[in-house]
Amino acid sequence: MELRNWAGNIRFSTDRVHHPETVGQVQEIVRKSRQVRVLGSRHSFNAIADSTGDLISLDRLQPVLEVDAQRQQITIDGGVTYGRLVPRIHAAGFALHNTASLPHITVAGACATATHGSGGRNGMLGSRVAAMEIVTADGTVRTISRADDGDRFAGAVVAFGGLGVVTRLTLDVSPTFDMYQVVYENLPLAQVEEHFDAIMSSGYSVSLFSDWRESRFNQAWIKTVAASKSSDAASAAPTFYGATRATTDVHPLPTLDPATCTPQMGVVGPWHERLPHFRSEFQPSYGEELQSEYFLPRAQAPAALRAIADIRGDVAPLLQMSEVRTIAADSLWMSPFYRRDCVALHFTWRYDWEGLKQLLPRIEERLAPFDARPHWGKLFTIPAPRLQARYERLPDFRALLESFDPHGIFRNTFLETFVFS
Ligand SMILES: Cc1cc2nc3c(=O)[nH]c(=O)nc-3n(C[C@H](O)[C@H](O)[C@H](O)COP(=O)(O)OP(=O)(O)OC[C@H]3O[C@@H](n4cnc5c(N)ncnc54)[C@H](O)[C@@H]3O)c2cc1C
Repeated sequence: MELRNWAGNIRFSTDRVHHPETVGQVQEIVRKSRQVRVLGSRHSFNAIADSTGDLISLDRLQPVLEVDAQRQQITIDGGVTYGRLVPRIHAAGFALHNTASLPHITVAGACATATHGSGGRNGMLGSRVAAMEIVTADGTVRTISRADDGDRFAGAVVAFGGLGVVTRLTLDVSPTFDMYQVVYENLPLAQVEEHFDAIMSSGYSVSLFSDWRESRFNQAWIKTVAASKSSDAASAAPTFYGATRATTDVHPLPTLDPATCTPQMGVVGPWHERLPHFRSEFQPSYGEELQSEYFLPRAQAPAALRAIADIRGDVAPLLQMSEVRTIAADSLWMSPFYRRDCVALHFTWRYDWEGLKQLLPRIEERLAPFDARPHWGKLFTIPAPRLQARYERLPDFRALLESFDPHGIFRNTFLETFVFS
């Protein structure tokens, strides 16, 4: 049976998927493979996870959850999804600092592509990785950690699966907390352009959604840490920079059922049921969709929004919904947030790659003056040399990959194109 990614737009070059249950079995598979890649939950929209040789899925790997309460760290297996993990972290009294919009993806896959949520003070998800256990190209198990490996570790977290099979991750956590979210509707673009910092700092995590049909954001989702179990949100203002507070739960796509979304209306609940937009027990988003996302310096957000607004007549027909988020800088070499606080301009597209092949270069051209970096796991058309010029640590990253994998068994066309070409 042919193997595809979640969106169905990528057909993998092989259907030879191994499902090891132990790290020993992973080592054996790697030793026997000439070309091998690891699969997460296959939610990326490009061929980043593809392989012409073997594929390894860690979905049957023995589950691990070790909690070090003193150090405020957890160690987990390389196959676990956020959906399976987060209730258990919460039950142990701890919290992750952030999540992506959906909990269906694996932690290892998310960290490998610099997946993020929102919040000006929140780094992307991989920014809290403290150590990784990796089965490397010769089948040996190596541990690489922030404490022992310094700068090299900063190259290892966002590595697109190029260092080997991540079988365990250690993450920093904090004591568990409660949150609530409030949604405002019809936020004028002019207000966002004028008050971008104030709007994006009005909660722990803020997301703005626009279909770009008009000069406004259809919704602003504001996620706030709750001081107590009783609803602090009762005091949330009825209006917000010209937008009005929603009177019922909403879905970012107005035609879809809000029951698939995490509770809103200021109802207090645990962090893992408020930080993602979508509930783990439902299929996320629309299903039939493609996605792109670009990251640029936060200070340039108003100008970048104006650049998109100027071509919204071309963007809107192919668009389901666009989302604007903010992400704090980190020091990870291949992270799009390397040493810069960013604004993220995300696009959930209709399933029309032919149309997007025309439109994406236009968007990328408009965002080029801001030195925009694309999401590694989504669709983009920026030529490799231009993209490579935006990553100053790329030569160090190449050297790191070569030292872990001298014969390139973990390389694929994506890595050859964007890292080694
Ligand atoms: C509906 C939807 C919503 C999304 N929302 C967001 C969002 O809110 N924010 C955001 O930033 N992104 C978002 N994404 C993108 C998504 O988070 C990334 O594409 C992420 O990488 C997917 O994780 P995955 O487990 O599916 O990894 P895959 O797509 O399967 O793999 C991604 C990469 O990770 C590598 N990898 C996976 N597991 C391992 C391992 N154990 N060891 C070594 N390498 C490994 C793979 O080889 C590959 O290179 C969304 C995607 C979808 C479909």
